[in-house]
Amino acid sequence: MTRAALALAVSAAVLALAACGRERAPASPSASATKPNLLLITMDTTRADHLGCYGDARAETPNLDRLAKEGALFTHAIAVAPLTLPSHVSILTGLYPPRHGVRDNADFVLPASETTLAEHLAAQGYVSGASVGTYILAGEVGLSQGFDTYAEPQRPKAAPAGDPNVVRILPIVERAAARVVDDAIGALDRMKDKPFFLWVHFYDPHMPYLPPLDVRPRFANRFYDGEIAGMDAQIGRLLDHLRALGLEDRTLIAATADHGESLGEHGEDTHGLYVYDATLAVPLLVRLPSAIRAGTRVTSLVSGVDLAPTVLELMGLPPMPGVQGRSAAAAFRGETLPEREPVYAESLYGERAYGWAPLHAIRSSKAKFIDAPRPELYDLERDPAETINTAPARAAEASEWRSKLDAAGAAIGEADPSASAGMSEEQRARIASLGYASAGGPGLSRKDRPDPKDLAVVSNLFLRAQTAISDGHDAEASKLLREALAKDPANPAVVSLLGALEFTGNDRASGLARLRAAAVAAPSVFQNQWNLGNALFLDGKLDEGAKALRAALAIRPGSGEAHYALANVLAAKGDSAAAIAEYNEAIKAGLATPPVRAALGSTLLATGDMTGAEAALRAALDGDPALADGWNKLGILLDKTGRRDEALAAFSHAVESQPDHADGLFNRARLELLKRDLPAARRDIDRLIAAHPDYAAARFLEAHVLAGEGNTAGAREALTKFLAAPKADPGMRAAARAMLAKLGA
Ligand SMILES: [Zn+2]
Repeated sequence: MTRAALALAVSAAVLALAACGRERAPASPSASATKPNLLLITMDTTRADHLGCYGDARAETPNLDRLAKEGALFTHAIAVAPLTLPSHVSILTGLYPPRHGVRDNADFVLPASETTLAEHLAAQGYVSGASVGTYILAGEVGLSQGFDTYAEPQRPKAAPAGDPNVVRILPIVERAAARVVDDAIGALDRMKDKPFFLWVHFYDPHMPYLPPLDVRPRFANRFYDGEIAGMDAQIGRLLDHLRALGLEDRTLIAATADHGESLGEHGEDTHGLYVYDATLAVPLLVRLPSAIRAGTRVTSLVSGVDLAPTVLELMGLPPMPGVQGRSAAAAFRGETLPEREPVYAESLYGERAYGWAPLHAIRSSKAKFIDAPRPELYDLERDPAETINTAPARAAEASEWRSKLDAAGAAIGEADPSASAGMSEEQRARIASLGYASAGGPGLSRKDRPDPKDLAVVSNLFLRAQTAISDGHDAEASKLLREALAKDPANPAVVSLLGALEFTGNDRASGLARLRAAAVAAPSVFQNQWNLGNALFLDGKLDEGAKALRAALAIRPGSGEAHYALANVLAAKGDSAAAIAEYNEAIKAGLATPPVRAALGSTLLATGDMTGAEAALRAALDGDPALADGWNKLGILLDKTGRRDEALAAFSHAVESQPDHADGLFNRARLELLKRDLPAARRDIDRLIAAHPDYAAARFLEAHVLAGEGNTAGAREALTKFLAAPKADPGMRAAARAMLAKLGA
């Protein structure tokens, strides 16, 4: 069966269900005196038509199917965007992306001035908790507003200063469904005695498709469906727990997805680029026995912005002020919902990442219009798979739809420009002040930009290259990126990633040139400035590196990683005061990791702030007792402040954590010499010279050991070797000359 035919068959089956779903009168939503709880389940990347309850006979989704059987299933639920963060923000605020301002997964923050469902429910006396599966939905992007607890993946570890890995992509941190549910169950147990709102997000069906091991054998060659099956099993575990607490029937359960997955439709492998139903049609299941009759089917069109108003009406609670969605709760009272005004959807991913035209779409239940350089119009009744663009043949109709899209855009409005959503004017000005000509992306007017529908292959190649890099296949990634560049030579995302690969591989000069070009072509993309700044730091170009990292911070002022990287550049420049300020900003932004505290301690030590340095170094070592550099710096501090025995112990910790730690071996040998422990000093010097033959100062200490052992000729030879080294410390050099003279050269 073709996809189009399959879609028709599925919608026919769904219509038949709708006919037999409206027989008995539903119960009143206010039947229960106590406030119902709310459990919101959002499933990442989950296509409706890959669930059993939506007609996929091969799916293994018994728990979601049970929700559909005991509650309501929406046949035409549409996401506002094929992107995780914008779509979730719309679900949680009832606002369309242009209004809430969060237009892409990265570089946007929901302003504190907006009201989330959690804040609204808190005002109604609800306690709340969230458990999310991806760092894209971290609380710091504004989603934790109103939640009492917010369980999210742990932050990626800050890479040490000068690590070439930081020039590559930041790791995607994901929590598997079992962990997400563990935290969700913990939140349920804490909240069970009060009216509660629990939001649980599963990231599992997102690329890469790696279903749990027990599921895999049944899903050979369809791991995407295996991920959904694994997620469903964990949803079952969560619902079992809710039932065991006796709360299932007093809890409104809503399960939906942020977007679908294209799986090759329209030439797109995954999601994010296009606004076709392959990635916008999502499941929506709602269960609340006191208000929704089992087996209800709602065929009206609903959008992600409708979810909050709908659940609030079902729960008998006041609506959120200013929401742009419409409640669909009347459908549960047996009323036929009037045709909804057309719903809006968008993707700005192609524009921001690749410099292509943005996509804005508007649709009814019958037709969809997509504003692109070559506009598209689809007859969704005849052509639900959106394969025949009727816009060229029906120009008048297309023009009417364009007017509707313009009207919808005007009605939706814009995000508060004074809010920090995305790039504020001030942020743009800061980037411009750093010398970047345009902070808005490539300098083409929208009409001249490439049409995304011509370039799906480029996006696929880029995403495959990212996967290849995370799998450790750099050569393969490089080949894919060059293939992409052949088709779209100025694509900033491709240029930046290829530059990062070359820079960390074997072509530093070409890599740096590409990283610079990407940062100029798309200066408002954090990743471009971040990669460039770190590469320049590694290349010793500190002023230019600081500029790029300041541009990165103008885009994401709350990025602890960027504050840390900038601090390292400033410390390397010798600007200790500015570096200390940036280390403290990194810690304030939540990056209070041992390497950051240790770097802060080292810099404070360099400024002579012994008290501050000791506190920071000890905090770092409490967090990571194996931090050799931290022990070494603490040893220096203890020695300088007259605590020689403690210093010796600290250097020993450094050498135990890292047996070839050069400074640790040198510093310990020095103290051993001062204590006249010649055998110990000899052992450390031998180890140091064996591991680091070029460590010049080792020869200076060796001379003292040899002199102590009575070997004057050997001592003279060691001093001569030391003085021949090109970069010896001037003070030590003078001391060496004096010693040579004393030994009678
Ligand atoms: Zn997503």
